[in-house]
Formats: sequence, structure tokens, C-alpha cells
Amino acid sequence: NQTTTWDKVDQYITERLIPQDAVLEEVLVTNQQAGLPPFDVSPSQGKFLNLLVQMKGARRILEIGTLGGYSTIWMARALPSDGQIVTLELDPIHAQVAKANLSLAEVDHLVELRVGDALEQLSQMKQEGVEPFDFIFIDADKPNNPNYLKWALQFSQPGTVILGDNVIREGEVINENSEDARVVGVREFYDLLAEEPRISATAIQTVGSKGYDGFVLGIVNS
Ligand code: SAM
Repeated sequence: NQTTTWDKVDQYITERLIPQDAVLEEVLVTNQQAGLPPFDVSPSQGKFLNLLVQMKGARRILEIGTLGGYSTIWMARALPSDGQIVTLELDPIHAQVAKANLSLAEVDHLVELRVGDALEQLSQMKQEGVEPFDFIFIDADKPNNPNYLKWALQFSQPGTVILGDNVIREGEVINENSEDARVVGVREFYDLLAEEPRISATAIQTVGSKGYDGFVLGIVNS
């Protein structure tokens, strides 16, 4: 069936293009053993994030939704030695697991992990006068996607890249009657992007080990 093919092709891509990496494999096992939900990006998607960060030449990254830090590690590895990722996580257990993983991957010196509700953290960061970011990855609670996009704009400068995960949701995104708060949040996210003149964006549908989903990718123009 289709899902099996998607899985097998994802495995093929991973075997061909993504060198085996004991640290990243251990991180996924740790996350599973700690009982974290399996919502990390896949290896091929992690590499995709890594490549995007390199292509952008990003030095400062904001990630909303850390989980166990798997995507954080992929992105941190693309940063220059004076780069930084600020990553936001609500759940103290997830954050604790992420902290250990970031240290195992030896990227902890590049990462500021802030624990608490992302909206509260973002407003605190504004008060602290945190500098704008070059790359922003939105991957937390989907009902808040519209709010995260508004905050992303506050922490952007011309050229900032904004990436959002899980914006297709097995095609449910086109269901205008959906009562699923995640779908409603993602649809509002599209609406905001559509009417926001400062951002130029598209979305790419993806299949693979994470099922049928996709990313929104945009750039801030002014
Ligand atoms: N980016 C991670 C990766 O690929 O490895 C996956 C992140 S997972 C999809 C979403 C994370 O967002 C979860 O760890 C969840 O606890 C966190 N989260 C949910 N609501 C949040 C909130 N209001 N503020 C901050 N983090 C939140």
C-alpha cells in the first residue's frame, strides 16, 4: 500500500544521502524511551532543515517547539561557531530530555533552551530586546500557528526565512468545516500568510515516514 511505499522510499533516501549518525540515532531512542511523542522530524526532513539553514547562511535561529531537540541538533550543526538557536518548549520533561540530547550532540553551547509557554517566552524576549533571527522554525501547538507567525514577524528582518511544519495534515487543510483546532489553526496561518504583504510564501506537500503532510516556507521581504 501507499504508506509502505512512502516509508520504503524514505528509508532509501536516508540510506543513500544521510550518513549513519550514532548521536542522532541515540537521540531518537532516548526520546522514545523517555515516552516523548514521536513528533520529531524524520531524518530526511532534519537534513532538509540543515540544508536550508546552510543555504540561508543563518547565524541566529528561533525554533518554536523543541520536543527532544532532534530538529534543534540538525539545525545547530549548520550554524557557524558564533551562531545561536533559541528554542522554546512548554513541557519541562521534554526540555529536560532535550537538554541531555543537546549536550550529547555537543551543540549545547549554541542553544538557548527556554522552558515555558512559547507565547509568554516570546513576549518576554521582546522585553529583553532579543535581536532578530535569520531563520524561524514554527513547530509547536498548531492552534497557535497564527500567533507564532505574528511573533515571527516581530523577530524578523528583511531576508528572514520562516518555515512551518505540519501544514497539510493528510489533506485536511482544505476542509473548511474541520472542527480540529490544529486544522483551524493551520488554515488561519495560511490566511495570514495570504494577506501579509511582508512575506512571500509557498507550501510543499510531503510524503514519507511521517505520512502525508508538508511545510510552509516563506521569506520576509521588508
Ligand atoms: N521540532 C521538534 C522536532 O522536530 O524534533 C518537534 C516538536 S513537536 C512537533 C511540538 C513540541 O511543541 C512539543 O514538544 C510540545 O510540548 C511543544 N509545545 C506545545 N505547546 C507549546 C507551547 N504553548 N509553547 C511551547 N511549546 C509547546
